[in-house]
Amino acid sequence: MSVPVLTAVAWPYANGPRHIGHVSGFGVPSDVFSRYQRMVGNRVLMVSGTDEHGTPIQVQADAEGTTPRELVDRYSRVIQDDLVGLGLSYDLFTRTSTDNHHRVTQDLFTALWNNGYVRTEKTLGAISPSTGRTLPDRYIEGTCPICGYPGARGDQCDNCGNQLDPADLINPRSRINGETPQFVETEHLLFDLPAFSKSLGSWLDTRTHWRPNVLNFSKRLADDLKPRAISRDLDWGVRIPLDGWHDLPMKRFYVWFDAVIGYLSASVEWAQRTGDPHAWQQWWCDPDAQSYYFMGKDNITFHSVMWPAFLLGHNGEGDRGGEVGSFGRLNLPTEIVSSEFLTMSGSKFSTSRGTVIYVGDFLREFGPDALRYFIAVAGPENQDSDFTWDEFVRRTNFELANEWGNLVNRSISLAFKNVGAIPEPTSPDPADEALLAQSRAAFDTVGAHLARSRFKQAISEAMRIVGEANAYLSHQEPWKRKDDPARRDTILHTALQVVQDANTLLTPFLPHAAQKVHEALGGTGVWAEQPHREDAGVSGELGTSHSVLTGDYASEQARWASTPIPVGRPLERPTPLFAKLDPSLGETGPSWAPIATDG
Ligand SMILES: [Zn+2]
Repeated sequence: MSVPVLTAVAWPYANGPRHIGHVSGFGVPSDVFSRYQRMVGNRVLMVSGTDEHGTPIQVQADAEGTTPRELVDRYSRVIQDDLVGLGLSYDLFTRTSTDNHHRVTQDLFTALWNNGYVRTEKTLGAISPSTGRTLPDRYIEGTCPICGYPGARGDQCDNCGNQLDPADLINPRSRINGETPQFVETEHLLFDLPAFSKSLGSWLDTRTHWRPNVLNFSKRLADDLKPRAISRDLDWGVRIPLDGWHDLPMKRFYVWFDAVIGYLSASVEWAQRTGDPHAWQQWWCDPDAQSYYFMGKDNITFHSVMWPAFLLGHNGEGDRGGEVGSFGRLNLPTEIVSSEFLTMSGSKFSTSRGTVIYVGDFLREFGPDALRYFIAVAGPENQDSDFTWDEFVRRTNFELANEWGNLVNRSISLAFKNVGAIPEPTSPDPADEALLAQSRAAFDTVGAHLARSRFKQAISEAMRIVGEANAYLSHQEPWKRKDDPARRDTILHTALQVVQDANTLLTPFLPHAAQKVHEALGGTGVWAEQPHREDAGVSGELGTSHSVLTGDYASEQARWASTPIPVGRPLERPTPLFAKLDPSLGETGPSWAPIATDG
């Protein structure tokens, strides 16, 4: 049965290029998952985009002497280049600065407002005493009132993960110039999160299949809900569709309110582009549809509590009840798949300290699949994990090049040299059959891991088959069987069948290499489709054209099954699948990379 599967991928913030820590959290896991789901025949809609509003964009644009629009135009393009380069197979990767996104955000808000889940309230807001301008939350720093961490930000404590109000910070100060902010009264929209305590709690009780760290964290949050401001004093963002508010120059939705609505707005935009404007409903309104949200752990709050509460409010399913909003009854997330953090040689990635490896730099030197492999096998799936050049070089050379690359290369080379085509098997012996049985059985075991987002176990199991095939070749020694060509051909056929199976098992992880192996085995056409950029035209009122990432994944050939390799198909001399890296890279990293420091 073909199930609609929504892959909702966290929206990268358009204030700079992404580093490999970012894409290890949201990017590669979501793509591996989506590629697997397509291969088993499910209808996948994978959406995301650049998150382009909010105070950090405004402040950075001021600092660079440019406009927020110019800044996000520049960085959305850089980020799109990185994601295309990594081969992340978005059905639509768009932007929050589109008319469509603004309209969907306003419509969803209207449902919350009509159902009584938002009220206006005068609260204390910070201004800079020297300039009189609003001082954004993130630019206020102080001691966390909950855990005592001295570097807490006004909106969130990075140490304990709690959302904060800047007025609650102990010893608050401006991160821009160090002065003490002044708190003045300003009117805001408050979302009545406590009205969802019961409905969120009973929903979370049904989420028993989540990763335990995500579920336990979410339950703790849901036990202690407070009303949250969803507006900000800012002139860059989505306008508030209320009389007396819409035209105020300094009132916009809080960036996190509109960013999570992006999953819905991107689905709506995707449907419009297909010519069937209601097509998004298959993923959002069909009760049998599934939805998986991928992110780093710093975003759990917004996806396991805030976003479900917005959906419940739109559906009229909080304590106050209400009508179902204009989108129809919307599905809550099936699962929140959150990763932990990737560190670099023991330290947090930090743009300000220069300890950062940008995706673009990495791809230019090493290509996408080596990074995808590292993230899948050694990434921060269940606990923080560390990137070191030594480990990257070791895994690339010994696992990708020596084990997988070598298996492909020597089995195809031998068949090419001896037969020139896929050899014909005759009377297989128990060793052949045992190996084939293992690689066939791996579709179930690896598939079960992938369906549960257990990427590390999935790729380890796939690589175990590669190891078994290498051991089989070393033991059977087809290169010593000149006097028994029938046996030699049976061995080579068996090895090539296992290469075909292993390549299928590895396709979600290594889609670029998988295409090459498909061709090296004499296959033609697209095995694993890659995304591309498309011009999406002018975005109405906001007046600028935007481009999106998309792809035609229905045309790819990869299916999650052992497919027989066709006897007699001509082969050519293979080229190496993965280049080996100079081991000295493991000590220092490439010249463009920051110097690793201890701890
Ligand atoms: Zn704290």
